[in-house]
Amino acid sequence: MNNLSSSRTDDPAAGGFLIVDTAAVVANWRTLRDSAPSAKTCGAVMKADGYGLGAAELAPALAAAGCRDFFVAVPEEGIALRRAVPDHTIYVLSGPLGSLEPFITHNLTPVLNAPEQVAEWLAHSGGRDYVVQVDSGMNRLGLTAAELTELAPGLKPRLLMSHLCCADEPAHPMNQSQLAAFRVAREKLPGVPSSLAASSGIFLGPDYHFDLVRPGIGLYGGNPVPGQPNPVRAAATLRIRIVQVRRIDTPGAVGYGATHAVTPGMRLATVSAGYADGLLRSLGGRGKGMLGGIEVPIVGRVSMDLISFDVSAVPEEFARPGQWISVLGDGIDLDEQAGRAGTISYELLTGLSRRYARRYTGS
Ligand SMILES: *Cc1c(COP(=O)(O)O)cnc(C)c1O
Repeated sequence: MNNLSSSRTDDPAAGGFLIVDTAAVVANWRTLRDSAPSAKTCGAVMKADGYGLGAAELAPALAAAGCRDFFVAVPEEGIALRRAVPDHTIYVLSGPLGSLEPFITHNLTPVLNAPEQVAEWLAHSGGRDYVVQVDSGMNRLGLTAAELTELAPGLKPRLLMSHLCCADEPAHPMNQSQLAAFRVAREKLPGVPSSLAASSGIFLGPDYHFDLVRPGIGLYGGNPVPGQPNPVRAAATLRIRIVQVRRIDTPGAVGYGATHAVTPGMRLATVSAGYADGLLRSLGGRGKGMLGGIEVPIVGRVSMDLISFDVSAVPEEFARPGQWISVLGDGIDLDEQAGRAGTISYELLTGLSRRYARRYTGS
């Protein structure tokens, strides 16, 4: 994306680097937008620094592609994103957290989730735009149906929204029940545009699309339709540098706890990243990497800054210090690796550390 980030590509000081494919993120936004043709608008959810991949770097590319609506979780993220997209709408999903000042100074649009937030905004924002969230069954954020009924006569939000809790399970009865509750809520604010679907909700079909869809994980390559072919492209590649390769000559074990037996003739590669870099400890004995086009298993426990792979199957020319083992991308699927860690793509991506050198490609 810029010279600073690309010059760090082969940063000799970095133990690992994260390559973010900006073109894939933009292509994924278009795929998601085109999957909800009846919605007039497709936004982009960029909370947690764009799911760990860099909101400030990715938002301008999405804006250039036509995205006008950006969502973050907290005001602080909105302030940071404002510099990257000076002219677009930035919604803050948690709404004001004690002060309206950041919203007014940085032109952020709050999602108001409780009667107190509504009252404060209407009284002190000077008539600025806002969104109202209604809870349709998740019991997380948003006005209750009764609160909305009571407040509706005084409300003129630019958007009414709610959030689905089970959209990744199309057959789950919560989807229908939340849709019905959201339709009832919409009738209380006639003429107000509305938004229900995030990435997975888009694939529940046109009933769920309304006026604006708000994908997050799908932009970043996570599969919004688990168990079906992924309609979006991988956006993150993570390569970790090999520090040392050792050939085992006596039977023993590898890593903390000596949990994994090694036998003579095996070759192990130790790479320079670990759980402090978001490569979860639960990947120990379960995760995998790719080296020289060959899958290599993680063996033994994941350390804070180091992980061992069994590279016995890889020709020696590829398994040498200074070379890279890919743990995301390059044939390692994000959702699959997350599953091996006992988690989901969201947690794996948002946990990736700031210690990686980063490169943005394809912009
Ligand atoms: C995180 C979030 C989204 C995006 O969800 P994905 O599953 O990542 O697409 C949309 N809306 C709200 C309210 C969210 O919290």
